Amino acid sequence: MDDQGYVIDPVKGPRSVPTHERALEAVRAPAADVDGFVREFLRELNFGQGVSLARATVNDQYLALARTVRHYLMARWLEAIAHQRREPVKAVGYLSAEYLLGRQLDNALLAADLEGVVTDGLAQCGLSLDTLREQEEEPGLGNGGLGRLAACFIDSLATLSVPCIGYGIRYEYGIFRQTFVDGRQVEQPDTWLALGSPWEFPHPESSQPVNFAGHTETFVDDDGSERTRWVPEWGVIGVPYNYMVPGYRNGRVNTLRLWSAQATKAFDLSIFNGGDYVDAVRAQTFAENISKVLYPEDSTPQGKELRLQQQYFFVACSLADFMFEVLDKDFDLTRLPERIVFQLNDTHPVIAVPEMMRLLVDVKKLPWDQAWEITRQCFNYTCHTLLPEALEVWPVDLLRRLLPRHYEIIDRINAEFLADVRARFPGDEMMVRRMSIISDYPERGVRMAHLATVASGRVNGVAELHSQLLRDKVLPDFSRIWPEKFTNVTNGVTPRRFLRHANPSLSGLITEAIGDGWVTDLDKLQELEPLAGDASFRARFREVKRANKSRLVNLLRERDGYELPVEPMLDVMVKRLHEYKRQSLKLLHIVTLYDRIASGRVAASQIQPRTFVFGAKAAPGYWMAKETIHLINAVASTVNSDPALEGVLHVAFPANYNVTLAETLIPAADLSEQISLAGKEASGTGNMKFALNGALTIGTDDGANVEIRRLVGEDNFFLFGLLEPEVADLSAQGYVPSSFYESDDELKRALDLIAAGAFSGGNPDTFAPVVSNLLHEDRFMALADYRAYLDAQARVDAAYADQDAWSRSAILNVARCGFFSSDRSMRDYIDRIWHTDPVS
Ligand SMILES: *Cc1c(COP(=O)(O)O)cnc(C)c1O
Repeated sequence: MDDQGYVIDPVKGPRSVPTHERALEAVRAPAADVDGFVREFLRELNFGQGVSLARATVNDQYLALARTVRHYLMARWLEAIAHQRREPVKAVGYLSAEYLLGRQLDNALLAADLEGVVTDGLAQCGLSLDTLREQEEEPGLGNGGLGRLAACFIDSLATLSVPCIGYGIRYEYGIFRQTFVDGRQVEQPDTWLALGSPWEFPHPESSQPVNFAGHTETFVDDDGSERTRWVPEWGVIGVPYNYMVPGYRNGRVNTLRLWSAQATKAFDLSIFNGGDYVDAVRAQTFAENISKVLYPEDSTPQGKELRLQQQYFFVACSLADFMFEVLDKDFDLTRLPERIVFQLNDTHPVIAVPEMMRLLVDVKKLPWDQAWEITRQCFNYTCHTLLPEALEVWPVDLLRRLLPRHYEIIDRINAEFLADVRARFPGDEMMVRRMSIISDYPERGVRMAHLATVASGRVNGVAELHSQLLRDKVLPDFSRIWPEKFTNVTNGVTPRRFLRHANPSLSGLITEAIGDGWVTDLDKLQELEPLAGDASFRARFREVKRANKSRLVNLLRERDGYELPVEPMLDVMVKRLHEYKRQSLKLLHIVTLYDRIASGRVAASQIQPRTFVFGAKAAPGYWMAKETIHLINAVASTVNSDPALEGVLHVAFPANYNVTLAETLIPAADLSEQISLAGKEASGTGNMKFALNGALTIGTDDGANVEIRRLVGEDNFFLFGLLEPEVADLSAQGYVPSSFYESDDELKRALDLIAAGAFSGGNPDTFAPVVSNLLHEDRFMALADYRAYLDAQARVDAAYADQDAWSRSAILNVARCGFFSSDRSMRDYIDRIWHTDPVS
């Protein structure tokens, strides 16, 4: 727009805009028709990217397209931000170190209902949406389920019109890109920002300073009261990058605000002035390291200083941002709980608790007790694990060195808490020790889960069984003294991304049958139930599944070079590689099928043909997980190259499982593998995505599998394996994995085959550590569950032989899994934990 109020239109030429409408014009969305889109797209290409259509690269075209799509959401976004400042509404502050977002373009098109317009408009320019969408690098700012859950939750809150700011870290390198070299995992850096991300809006003017280290001092205030000040040693600047979080066709756009670390000017100036240019640049690198890379450990945190720096960095930025930027600087903070409720996604952001106390007591000079009252009303905590090694404990020495004031605050919170425990349970010093936030053994450490529990109004697990075990086994003393604090919210997944977008064929079939209300009200899928009994609907359902398999087979051919048949049952296990998830048990099944044929015990023609697909990244430092990946690839190449198994057994392990791959894989699956040892998987969300896409589950009585089975019915779910109490008993008794090996001939043969080098060119050493681990340690009891698993797989084969009955079960899975929408999870949080209201 120039001084005269003219808008230069690349298609129609200059157009006059009356002056008084200019301000409005600036935030008005372009016309949502093909002409309007084309005009805006070309404008972005010419004036935004600086290229003509004729010379534009695919990346130019993609960036221009993304920016054009943003325009359609922008007016609503600005309105939502203005509303947040203007109206006294309560918002959710979702604090999460991870957001595994997946690609943004299709999600935005879906939310804004622009797919048709964009497809046609691009066609007029001689371009194809299919080509451009492939240009997007997904932001992989999470490891697995926990990060993906955060992404589903913010999607649902926007769709429910609930004000929410998601706070996190803008990692320059997200989860590594997995490649395989000779079957072994090799990690490559994830350079998702290399070509620029059109979805982020940097706001350096809203940067926040964050300090570290140094010491504390006490002093007497003007009013005579004793106070503490923190004299930090160094600091960095947090620069916010905003992302749109559009609701589904409801005009609501929330914000995801991710922080990037930069060196402070003061910091490097002082060194520059000292004359050491090289040191100054090094200092800058040091500061910017904080948001450089996502830690690739899933469920097994390393007590690394940089990770604590990351945690404090994003939490300090986020609290200051909300308390002093979103709210006015002079906002009466005693009313803070009326305006915000922070959800702690696992223990990663729990350092926010002492940070809020510091802001209220040291900066805003509130009395300690009043500050504590406010803080306790502002936080709730979600626990995501049952594995003891996954509970974060920060060494006292490290925490005290990096955050001396926070350590003092934690120490006082702990002292007051323990005084309370002693008052209630006089003489029970064992209990005091068990509950203390600061542990003495094996080294002095701060138990972040205890701190979170003490400070939070509500503590929740993520599936019924998990919440029960959380109460009984992880935090039993806490649930005894505060039973009302503990609650369950079963996880969910967003039906927009994981059904409507990922599975257009099934979505079309569902919408044709029951209308499209299910996209925002997933319980409506129940209306499909009668159609499970309709033979023609079942036939169409099978056609959809077959088309999705064909789509997957094509993708795996192009992407990974696999030649796979379309016909066989598609048996899928995709999730992080972890011993507790038991990819090795799946492998023992495949090796047994292979052995049955190779040894001539069963004719290939007698086997129900199956294609097995794995997807899994291992933490780079998790040796056993990486050996398991090597073994999966070795079994895959042996099976796939055996001509006798052509069309019977195939194994594919496409590298770099991520959200984008999940979107093609899950809709194609017939069978979903959810086979963790009972009592170890908190919830799982992959299990929900599969069931909603019409796969049947073979699974243990673990996590949300329990609820899936109850809802879909036991006839439509293949249950096997030890129950959680049986696991506990077997453990207590002393589990001896080799006894299972000795007493089951097929299990013995499978392990012996691996040990003999059948999948390693005859070399018995290659997989000896994996075999030995299973035989002598087997922490997660794969051998104990082997026979039950094989029996259940035989039931799967028998069921699959009756295709019509299988389709009926698959349709019932879809119809009965509406509960697993993250919209329902969000309603549960809102009703039982947050008590927030939607805005109109
Ligand atoms: C859903 C999802 C997960 C979580 O899978 P689980 O089977 O629940 O562990 C992990 N990674 C990606 C890419 C996902 O989409």
